[in-house]
Amino acid sequence: MKLLEERIARDGRVIGTEILKVDSFLNHQIDVQLLDEIGKELYRLFKDKQITKVITIEASGIAIACAAARVFGVPVVFAKKARSLNIGKDTYTAKVHSFTYDSDYDITMSQSYLSADDTVLIVDDFLANGAALRGLLSICEQAGAKVGGIGICIEKGFQPGGDEMRAKGLPLESLAIIESMSEEGITFRKQ
Ligand code: 5GP
Repeated sequence: MKLLEERIARDGRVIGTEILKVDSFLNHQIDVQLLDEIGKELYRLFKDKQITKVITIEASGIAIACAAARVFGVPVVFAKKARSLNIGKDTYTAKVHSFTYDSDYDITMSQSYLSADDTVLIVDDFLANGAALRGLLSICEQAGAKVGGIGICIEKGFQPGGDEMRAKGLPLESLAIIESMSEEGITFRKQ
């Protein structure tokens, strides 16, 4: 997605060799007009998939999920992050290793909001090693929900998550894929 690539190139900040900060438009301050365009692009990619829910993980995924869900006309359900396992019986849970904090956390989702009747679009801001996505896929599996699509804003193509998901045949679309990055600049994969 050209608009997103241009914005990353202009306002993204590369920290070291692996972290991209997009706090000025996606992760902290949010450019809602850009999110609207992201929502429309996700709709263009997955409109034929009979999506019934958009799911994500709190916190940064929520705004993106809302932008998509508005266009699809379906609800958002976000997995909650829990540091300790204080979880009722009626929840799906999965363990996720946090790329940004290098620690494990649990995600939980109420069984009331996802079932075998659902076809979901999974969205997130970043795809790096794939841990967050594996957690969401596990929750879908526990619910018996079908995965109609996976829409990622920024895939770091030099980390293994994206290729792993494609090798499994999952319906992954990343709006911008970073081939390489350094403090000198960012190179995107041609799609
Ligand atoms: P993964 O689980 O695929 O290793 O990492 C994805 C999750 O880690 C995303 O939900 C995102 O919040 C966070 N993340 C991974 N890489 C980056 C990055 O370069 N910048 C930011 N801001 N978040 C990242």
